[in-house]
Amino acid sequence: MLYPYETLVDWDRQHLWHPFTQMQGFREEELLIITRGEGAYLFDHLGRRYLDGVSSLWTNVHGHGRPELNQAISRQLEQMAHSTLLGLAHPPAIVLARRLAEMALPGLTKVFYSDSGSTAVEVALKMAFQYWQLRGAPQKQRFLKLSGAYHGDTLGAVSVGGIALFHDIFHPLLFETLEAPAPYCYRCPEEQDCREQCLERLEEMVAAHHQELAAVILEPVMQGAAGMIPQPSGYLARVREITRRHDVLLIADEVATGFGRTGTMFACESEGVSPDLLCLAKGITGGYLPLAATLATEDIYRVFLGEFQDFKAFFHGHTYTGNPLAAAAALASLEIFEKEAVIESLAPKIDKLSRLLAEMQTHPHVGDIRQRGLMVGLELVQNRDTREPFPAARRTGHRVILEARKRGVILRPLGDVLVLMPPLCISGEELDTLAEVAYESICQGAGEAQKGPQSV
Ligand SMILES: *Cc1c(COP(=O)(O)O)cnc(C)c1O
Repeated sequence: MLYPYETLVDWDRQHLWHPFTQMQGFREEELLIITRGEGAYLFDHLGRRYLDGVSSLWTNVHGHGRPELNQAISRQLEQMAHSTLLGLAHPPAIVLARRLAEMALPGLTKVFYSDSGSTAVEVALKMAFQYWQLRGAPQKQRFLKLSGAYHGDTLGAVSVGGIALFHDIFHPLLFETLEAPAPYCYRCPEEQDCREQCLERLEEMVAAHHQELAAVILEPVMQGAAGMIPQPSGYLARVREITRRHDVLLIADEVATGFGRTGTMFACESEGVSPDLLCLAKGITGGYLPLAATLATEDIYRVFLGEFQDFKAFFHGHTYTGNPLAAAAALASLEIFEKEAVIESLAPKIDKLSRLLAEMQTHPHVGDIRQRGLMVGLELVQNRDTREPFPAARRTGHRVILEARKRGVILRPLGDVLVLMPPLCISGEELDTLAEVAYESICQGAGEAQKGPQSV
């Protein structure tokens, strides 16, 4: 599309309402228009190169412009761009369902497609709800969530979300939920042993309400949008044990953590946990096309079986559900995972990133460094000793990412938590760049420059 930059900026300001964006201030800023991607890099309208430090909002896995992914999509395109799964099937959706069932956590044999993380969560919530209705426990209608949870922006997903800033205004539209404290150790309201106290609270709530609880929903191992809040080791396994003991379903939302982000293919693997329902999206297509999947156990699936006139079917389905182009991209991405032993190759990258992050630890405005695999949150604070945050109006996180942009790295913060979440294909040298730029940008954007990290 050969429109001059000025024309595009003009039309953007006239017509494009950007997501999660205060348009008033945004219109004043220089608009960065991305025109091309290659490997771990994005390029703007002037051909300037940027390291994609957050994987194009947590989606990209093997890099931009991977020939295998491009070819898989164009090969499928030669056959057919779209056909429905309502009453019909097509090869990419069938083969992908088989692959996902084979590779996903034990017991998850059924794959229900949709097209975004939010819809994957809606599907899981409705499946869990209907499951208990059909199983003769109609009072089990409620959901328990964690504080700070993020499961998407549609109303069901917002109801099980715990980020006040995103959700409060919509409160009258939402259903009631129970909320257990997430183990946010850095700012834990509990005096000691954050993990035990949080688990105790959760267990009390599940024990007290199990008769009305349909499911517990959580982001396993690392809460993403909450500000990259990792769960202490052993937490997830205990939640699984508690839900099982009280006959409450467990929904694992791996929309962000799935497909290698935390160092294993799925975050649940690190604790040997299988949920009853698993939500996948973001990285499922390698970050190329919108696709989502909700995986369910045989037990859940069977409860929905019956005669046509029993009307036990799962009455849900999105028009572009399981789109063949997206499914073909997902299959090609999984093939790269296998052929290049991507998961096995992550350990040295994760170690290297840990070492680079450790060097930032002494910066007076780096309050907390949180890492699980290649998912990182750096919580920036005004005062490291008191953990006092910066005033929101200062927009420290935003200042920092603008500094990073000047230095050729694209980042997007969560408030004053600086997020680093590079594509899994990032090289060691690129990790050095990412860490160096992050550090310099923190010095510039938050203040008080110090000695930067050296290459490891
Ligand atoms: C991003 C995200 C979602 C929502 O996915 P969309 O594709 O934006 O609808 C849901 N859950 C988690 C954990 C996420 O990170």
